[in-house]
Amino acid sequence: MNILILGAGGREHTLAWKLKQSAKLKNLFVAPGNAGTAAIAKNIPIGVNDFEAIKKCVLTEKIDMVVVGPEDPLVNGVHDFFLSDADLKHIPVIGPQMAAAKLEGSKQFAKEFMMRHHIPTAAYESFTVATLEKGYAFLESLNPPYVLKADGLAAGKGVLILNDLQEAKDELKTMLVDAKFGNASTTVVIEEFLDGIELSCFVLTDGINFKVLPTAKDYKRIGEGDTGLNTGGMGAISPVPFADNDFMVKVLERIVKPTVEGFKKDNLPYKGFVFIGLIKVGEDPKVIEYNVRLGDPETEVVIPRIKNDLVEVLQAVANQTLNKIDLEIDQRTATTVMAVSGGYPEDYAKGKEITGFDAIDDAIVFHAGTQLKEGKVLTNGGRVLAVTAYGSDFKDALSRSYKNIEKLQFDKMYYRKDLGFDL
Ligand code: ATP
Repeated sequence: MNILILGAGGREHTLAWKLKQSAKLKNLFVAPGNAGTAAIAKNIPIGVNDFEAIKKCVLTEKIDMVVVGPEDPLVNGVHDFFLSDADLKHIPVIGPQMAAAKLEGSKQFAKEFMMRHHIPTAAYESFTVATLEKGYAFLESLNPPYVLKADGLAAGKGVLILNDLQEAKDELKTMLVDAKFGNASTTVVIEEFLDGIELSCFVLTDGINFKVLPTAKDYKRIGEGDTGLNTGGMGAISPVPFADNDFMVKVLERIVKPTVEGFKKDNLPYKGFVFIGLIKVGEDPKVIEYNVRLGDPETEVVIPRIKNDLVEVLQAVANQTLNKIDLEIDQRTATTVMAVSGGYPEDYAKGKEITGFDAIDDAIVFHAGTQLKEGKVLTNGGRVLAVTAYGSDFKDALSRSYKNIEKLQFDKMYYRKDLGFDL
């Protein structure tokens, strides 16, 4: 079987690494990929939103399945593009159709979905420029902190959490009237603040059946002790120690089942991964957000814990026979620590040579922002490498991630040394 993965990050390298282990795989392609994927697959230099170029690649390389990494092409309708094209419609795409991808593309849509299906989440109201005054009144009715969310995709920057009422009102106005986040903030969702600890739950569904994948917790802030600016993620741990059996039964019954049932009831065609951002408030789970794909760096700890042949599992998703798959999960803990370019998430340099790969022993290095140039691996992004290791518990796994990340070098490399500090 020939498979094309869309994307260029650590998530896609991890998927490529896992698919590569399958006896069912013939040729593997990644578009556009990075230096890590170049070592195990063929990189195709096309953008993930260039559907015509993707079509050409799929036909030329005789691709049998497309696995979509990031949200953008899904929200832009890559799956629908395949279904509406006579030459492509028989080729399975792993990732939801546009109607379902709206769960990530519009926060208002996601909130309405949760309300309709009685899925626990923060109380909310949404506002546009025409209802700005009502927005002010709603803010006045809430206790701080105030949570303001741009409705559309804003590269993870569209959520503001503010302590001061006047500041919240000013920001609401800037989002709605001055289009702070462009079209993404034409509508703003204002939410009740939830106080708790966050984790992510991953589900794989074929639209009828589903499998709950391992939980993970990521570390979003650049600084130790969860301080400083938000990043794409500085590391992750799976499983999450505080997501015990009782808690996961609640997640299954109150959240996962009604979510998949909701897809069916609302006619939202979904074949792919669902990322459910959860917060544990007291002993109860509530949904913060849905993402319509795997998370990064969570993928780097979730996928390595799945023992099954991933090609087989994804074929079952395409054929809607996921009920016939018995998932086998590695009982060890997996951790990943992300090495980033100095200065990230603000300005940083690219093109720095990375060395030390040969010294890695009991860990896996997944590439995120890297590129191969004249035989050298160079940095090519803010988040550069994810070092994943297994262990008997998260401390044991982390000690291996850290022991190995120390063997890697590039100019101004930085990583957080305190992962797991809050567990
Ligand atoms: P991401 O970068 O995770 O894709 P996003 O821009 O899609 O984020 P959300 O996940 O909805 O937005 O919110 C970002 C973060 O803000 C959350 O991870 C959480 O820490 C915080 N947050 C969001 N909603 C709430 C809430 N109601 N109460 C408390 N914190 C919240």
